[in-house]
Amino acid sequence: MVQPVTGDEGVSPAGIAPRPETHAASRHDETPFVNLRDPARALGPDGKPAVSRRAAIWEDVPDERWNDWRWQLSNRVSTVEDIGRVINLTDDEKAGLSSTDKFRVDVTPYFLSLIDPDDPNDPIRRQVIPTDCEHEAFTAMMEDSLAEDRHSPVPGLVHRYPDRVLMLVTTQCASYCRYCTRSRIVGDAAANFNRAEHEAQLDYLRRTPQIRDVLISGGDGLTLAPKLLESILRGIREIPHIEIIRIGSRVPVFLPQRIDDELCEMLAKYHPLWMNLHFNHPNEITPEVSRAADKLARAGIPLGNQSVLLAGVNDCVHIMRSLVHRLVENRIRPYYIYQCDLVEGSGHFRTPVGKGIEIMEGLRGHTSGYAVPTFVVDAPGGGGKIPVMPNYLISYSDHKVVLRNFEGYITTYEEPEHYTPHDKASCKYCQNPRPEPGQGGIEGLLDGKQMWIEPSGFEQAHLRGRTEPHRLQDPAKWVPYGVGAIEGTADRAPVELAPGPTTYPPGEEPRPGEGEPTGWSHGELL
Ligand SMILES: *Cc1c(COP(=O)(O)O)cnc(C)c1O
Ligand code: SF4
Repeated sequence: MVQPVTGDEGVSPAGIAPRPETHAASRHDETPFVNLRDPARALGPDGKPAVSRRAAIWEDVPDERWNDWRWQLSNRVSTVEDIGRVINLTDDEKAGLSSTDKFRVDVTPYFLSLIDPDDPNDPIRRQVIPTDCEHEAFTAMMEDSLAEDRHSPVPGLVHRYPDRVLMLVTTQCASYCRYCTRSRIVGDAAANFNRAEHEAQLDYLRRTPQIRDVLISGGDGLTLAPKLLESILRGIREIPHIEIIRIGSRVPVFLPQRIDDELCEMLAKYHPLWMNLHFNHPNEITPEVSRAADKLARAGIPLGNQSVLLAGVNDCVHIMRSLVHRLVENRIRPYYIYQCDLVEGSGHFRTPVGKGIEIMEGLRGHTSGYAVPTFVVDAPGGGGKIPVMPNYLISYSDHKVVLRNFEGYITTYEEPEHYTPHDKASCKYCQNPRPEPGQGGIEGLLDGKQMWIEPSGFEQAHLRGRTEPHRLQDPAKWVPYGVGAIEGTADRAPVELAPGPTTYPPGEEPRPGEGEPTGWSHGELL
């Protein structure tokens, strides 16, 4: 399907209509300012609020029903027949869907409609439609890979960190992710948590004063009946030592219709309340999602995002960069990228840890710090989340990563034996990378095309036969401006580039003098 081109990657998120032209005249007349860059205010071609595409079988559903979260929940699809009416299933998917011992399948009509029916590699499809691969066991696979059950003082409460707990309030979700870490407990409607268990959880919180942060998850707390969710929130807020409440939810992704004014008003009563969402691919960020995120942000809820690194979905620097840009544009702060857990059924989603490192390298510095999450491995065996960075990364061999957590607990993450690298040739994000003029990235190194990168701009590049100047060397683009200068006080004229090469023997280029700000001196040099 051909998408209109918007956004800095030259790729439009699923279903977003082109933005209307801004009329220069409207800036000067009396009409109130309309912010056309706000994704929550995006308009469709008909001038009404933009909507994402809807599969043909639901075309006749009246808008009020389609936009009603109860309708979306009760019309979820799960069978080969029903899903086959919306997307053209592969044999592998038919086998996956027909298997009797699979992790629950259920997808909201809204989310299923975002899938390209003819693309078996559609990133949304990969997340919610099972394939036969789910049956493949792999080395290091575990049922409860994070040892959550061992850290549960009462059912559903995981107390692994000193000052915060994970509170599983339901086993139900709006749709089910094939790689779910908690697939051992999630999905089973018959084995849900009841009020007595919620009360036991609250009781543990009351008598454990070191807990200052409660993370409501599941399952997905936002699928609970509103009254029940509120009674849990109130129960937590009545405990004086609980400082913050967090909700981890994928409802805004699967079912943005659920984020209505009533819910936001209710949540706002229990501040300080934070929320972490779970987007994995830019296609998931639709106009409906933008409006839902806007409502939550307006209710004063700071929004974060946790992504899971998934082979064939988002194991690509360009996809991830586009995702984090779409997130910050919606006031959602990327929080974590998780290495895929060693959980049953998710072997085909696993990537090497190096892929996450590569993605971090492609984000830090290349984009706003706000858009850069932390890449973490949730320690197999239950040590908690470990950032993949010095101090925590003890060793990295061809098949094993050794890490330590904040307490000194040491664990290993076994790398996947089979990983099919991301196919750059068929990836529209790789084919349309965001340009960074004059910057040599690390891609040449990772692709094996180059053996080193010279830090150009800080040496005399033209002496080494380079024709393309670093952007700092082009005075038309960049006025040398010292790190030490206070904004607005640099009254010097831009430094003209010397016409011919100035020869300095390597290593003897001028250096900043004692006490001279480094940036300023480099400016002179350039
Ligand atoms: C993820 C998690 C938390 C929260 O960790 P943060 O790093 O503070 O976001 C708390 N408890 C458990 C069991 C978790 O898995
Ligand atoms: S929303 Fe979360 S808990 Fe539910 S299936 Fe997906 S990953 Fe699992």
